[in-house]
Amino acid sequence: MVKHDPSKANLTFEEWMERKKAEEREKTHGAERVSGPRVHALYDVAQALDRCCFDRYFKHVLPTFYYIPPDIEAAHSEARGVYIPTGGIMIRRRDYDAHGIDDDMINTIYHEMVHFYDDMKRIQDTKDGGGVYHTAAFAASCQKNGGICWFSDSVTGFSRAALTPETLAAVKALVRRWVKTDLDFVEDRLSTWAT
Ligand SMILES: [Zn+2]
Repeated sequence: MVKHDPSKANLTFEEWMERKKAEEREKTHGAERVSGPRVHALYDVAQALDRCCFDRYFKHVLPTFYYIPPDIEAAHSEARGVYIPTGGIMIRRRDYDAHGIDDDMINTIYHEMVHFYDDMKRIQDTKDGGGVYHTAAFAASCQKNGGICWFSDSVTGFSRAALTPETLAAVKALVRRWVKTDLDFVEDRLSTWAT
Protein backbone atom coordinates (compact mmCIF):
# COMPACT_ATOMS: atom_id res chain seq x y z
CA MET A 1 0.00 0.00 0.00
CA VAL A 2 1.28 3.46 -0.86
CA LYS A 3 1.62 5.78 2.09
CA HIS A 4 -0.29 8.98 1.62
CA ASP A 5 0.76 12.02 3.58
CA PRO A 6 -1.51 14.97 2.76
CA SER A 7 1.02 17.44 4.21
CA LYS A 8 3.49 16.46 1.47
CA ALA A 9 0.99 16.22 -1.36
CA ASN A 10 1.71 19.53 -3.08
CA LEU A 11 5.39 19.94 -2.44
CA THR A 12 8.03 19.96 -5.12
CA PHE A 13 11.05 17.78 -4.49
CA GLU A 14 13.10 20.86 -3.50
CA GLU A 15 10.42 21.98 -1.04
CA TRP A 16 10.24 18.51 0.41
CA MET A 17 14.06 18.46 0.84
CA GLU A 18 13.95 21.89 2.51
CA ARG A 19 11.31 20.64 4.92
CA LYS A 20 13.35 17.53 5.73
CA LYS A 21 16.40 19.69 6.39
CA ALA A 22 14.39 22.00 8.67
CA GLU A 23 13.07 18.99 10.58
CA GLU A 24 16.61 17.70 10.96
CA ARG A 25 17.87 21.08 12.21
CA GLU A 26 15.11 21.17 14.80
CA LYS A 27 15.64 17.59 15.94
CA THR A 28 19.41 18.01 16.24
CA HIS A 29 19.57 21.60 17.57
CA GLY A 30 21.37 22.54 14.37
CA ALA A 31 24.15 20.04 14.99
CA GLU A 32 26.73 19.68 12.26
CA ARG A 33 26.88 16.32 10.53
CA VAL A 34 30.16 14.47 10.68
CA SER A 35 31.58 14.50 7.16
CA GLY A 36 34.49 13.23 5.09
CA PRO A 37 36.55 10.11 5.88
CA ARG A 38 35.34 10.20 9.48
CA VAL A 39 31.89 9.13 8.34
CA HIS A 40 33.31 5.98 6.75
CA ALA A 41 35.27 5.20 9.89
CA LEU A 42 32.22 5.69 12.12
CA TYR A 43 30.03 3.61 9.82
CA ASP A 44 32.56 0.80 9.92
CA VAL A 45 32.42 0.83 13.71
CA ALA A 46 28.60 0.94 13.70
CA GLN A 47 28.48 -1.92 11.21
CA ALA A 48 30.96 -3.98 13.21
CA LEU A 49 28.92 -3.35 16.37
CA ASP A 50 25.80 -4.41 14.49
CA ARG A 51 27.42 -7.74 13.64
CA CYS A 52 29.16 -8.39 16.95
CA CYS A 53 26.48 -7.13 19.34
CA PHE A 54 23.08 -6.75 17.72
CA ASP A 55 22.91 -9.85 15.53
CA ARG A 56 22.62 -7.63 12.41
CA TYR A 57 19.40 -6.09 13.64
CA PHE A 58 20.30 -2.73 12.06
CA LYS A 59 21.48 -3.97 8.66
CA HIS A 60 21.19 -0.86 6.48
CA VAL A 61 19.58 1.39 9.08
CA LEU A 62 22.81 2.77 10.44
CA PRO A 63 22.84 5.94 12.52
CA THR A 64 23.53 9.42 11.17
CA PHE A 65 26.51 10.93 13.00
CA TYR A 66 26.67 14.54 14.24
CA TYR A 67 28.96 16.57 16.45
CA ILE A 68 27.43 17.62 19.77
CA PRO A 69 26.61 21.33 19.31
CA PRO A 70 28.10 23.84 21.79
CA ASP A 71 24.88 24.51 23.71
CA ILE A 72 24.28 20.82 24.45
CA GLU A 73 27.95 20.32 25.29
CA ALA A 74 27.80 23.23 27.72
CA ALA A 75 24.68 21.84 29.40
CA HIS A 76 25.95 18.25 29.54
CA SER A 77 29.72 18.61 29.67
CA GLU A 78 30.22 15.02 30.83
CA ALA A 79 28.26 13.51 27.92
CA ARG A 80 30.52 11.82 25.37
CA GLY A 81 27.58 10.92 23.16
CA VAL A 82 23.93 11.81 22.65
CA TYR A 83 21.24 9.69 21.03
CA ILE A 84 18.65 11.49 18.90
CA PRO A 85 15.36 9.68 18.33
CA THR A 86 15.09 8.16 15.86
CA GLY A 87 18.48 7.17 14.59
CA GLY A 88 21.02 9.97 15.12
CA ILE A 89 24.17 9.78 17.20
CA MET A 90 26.11 12.83 18.36
CA ILE A 91 29.75 12.54 19.37
CA ARG A 92 32.13 15.15 20.80
CA ARG A 93 34.31 16.69 18.13
CA ARG A 94 37.16 17.27 20.58
CA ASP A 95 37.27 13.52 21.38
CA TYR A 96 37.61 12.64 17.71
CA ASP A 97 40.11 15.46 17.10
CA ALA A 98 42.29 14.31 19.99
CA HIS A 99 42.02 10.52 19.84
CA GLY A 100 40.26 9.42 16.63
CA ILE A 101 38.47 6.14 17.03
CA ASP A 102 39.86 4.75 20.25
CA ASP A 103 38.27 2.34 22.72
CA ASP A 104 36.34 5.16 24.42
CA MET A 105 34.86 6.25 21.09
CA ILE A 106 33.82 2.69 20.25
CA ASN A 107 32.18 2.32 23.67
CA THR A 108 30.43 5.67 23.23
CA ILE A 109 29.01 4.60 19.87
CA TYR A 110 28.02 1.29 21.45
CA HIS A 111 26.18 3.11 24.28
CA GLU A 112 24.22 5.24 21.82
CA MET A 113 23.47 2.25 19.57
CA VAL A 114 21.93 0.48 22.58
CA HIS A 115 19.59 3.50 22.89
CA PHE A 116 18.85 3.23 19.14
CA TYR A 117 18.15 -0.49 19.48
CA ASP A 118 15.87 0.06 22.50
CA ASP A 119 14.10 2.88 20.63
CA MET A 120 13.30 0.57 17.72
CA LYS A 121 12.26 -2.24 20.08
CA ARG A 122 10.12 0.17 22.12
CA ILE A 123 12.12 -0.53 25.27
CA GLN A 124 11.93 2.41 27.70
CA ASP A 125 15.56 2.70 28.78
CA THR A 126 15.59 6.26 30.17
CA LYS A 127 13.37 8.17 32.55
CA ASP A 128 12.92 11.94 32.62
CA GLY A 129 12.25 13.89 35.78
CA GLY A 130 13.39 12.57 39.17
CA GLY A 131 15.37 9.46 39.88
CA VAL A 132 17.96 7.91 37.66
CA TYR A 133 18.05 8.74 33.93
CA HIS A 134 19.39 5.42 32.56
CA THR A 135 17.10 2.75 33.97
CA ALA A 136 17.82 -0.89 34.76
CA ALA A 137 16.28 -1.68 31.35
CA PHE A 138 19.29 0.05 29.72
CA ALA A 139 21.70 -2.09 31.75
CA ALA A 140 19.76 -5.23 30.80
CA SER A 141 19.88 -4.28 27.13
CA CYS A 142 23.67 -3.77 27.30
CA GLN A 143 24.12 -7.13 28.98
CA LYS A 144 21.98 -8.82 26.36
CA ASN A 145 23.92 -7.19 23.51
CA GLY A 146 27.59 -7.86 24.08
CA GLY A 147 28.35 -5.30 26.77
CA ILE A 148 28.52 -4.61 30.44
CA CYS A 149 26.95 -1.72 32.31
CA TRP A 150 27.62 -0.08 35.67
CA PHE A 151 25.61 2.20 37.85
CA SER A 152 27.25 5.61 37.70
CA ASP A 153 25.40 7.93 40.06
CA SER A 154 21.91 8.79 41.25
CA VAL A 155 21.36 11.26 38.39
CA THR A 156 22.60 9.45 35.28
CA GLY A 157 21.86 5.96 36.63
CA PHE A 158 23.14 2.94 34.70
CA SER A 159 25.04 5.08 32.23
CA ARG A 160 28.47 3.47 32.09
CA ALA A 161 28.39 0.99 29.23
CA ALA A 162 31.31 -0.81 27.65
CA LEU A 163 31.87 -3.79 25.44
CA THR A 164 33.30 -6.90 27.06
CA PRO A 165 37.02 -7.28 26.21
CA GLU A 166 36.16 -10.18 23.85
CA THR A 167 33.51 -8.16 21.99
CA LEU A 168 35.76 -5.09 21.76
CA ALA A 169 38.52 -7.25 20.24
CA ALA A 170 36.05 -8.75 17.75
CA VAL A 171 34.77 -5.29 16.70
CA LYS A 172 38.31 -4.00 16.16
CA ALA A 173 39.33 -7.11 14.22
CA LEU A 174 36.39 -6.61 11.85
CA VAL A 175 37.16 -2.93 11.27
CA ARG A 176 40.84 -3.71 10.69
CA ARG A 177 39.89 -6.30 8.08
CA TRP A 178 37.67 -3.82 6.25
CA VAL A 179 40.31 -1.12 6.39
CA LYS A 180 42.77 -3.37 4.55
CA THR A 181 40.57 -3.16 1.49
CA ASP A 182 40.26 0.60 1.68
CA LEU A 183 43.75 1.97 2.21
CA ASP A 184 42.99 5.67 1.82
CA PHE A 185 41.46 5.85 5.26
CA VAL A 186 43.91 3.70 7.17
CA GLU A 187 45.68 6.67 8.68
CA ASP A 188 42.50 8.29 9.90
CA ARG A 189 40.98 5.15 11.36
CA LEU A 190 43.87 3.42 12.99
CA SER A 191 46.18 6.23 14.05
CA THR A 192 45.33 5.74 17.72
CA TRP A 193 45.15 1.97 17.86
CA ALA A 194 48.31 0.52 19.30
CA THR A 195 49.06 -2.62 17.31
ZN1 LIG B 1 22.62 7.17 27.33
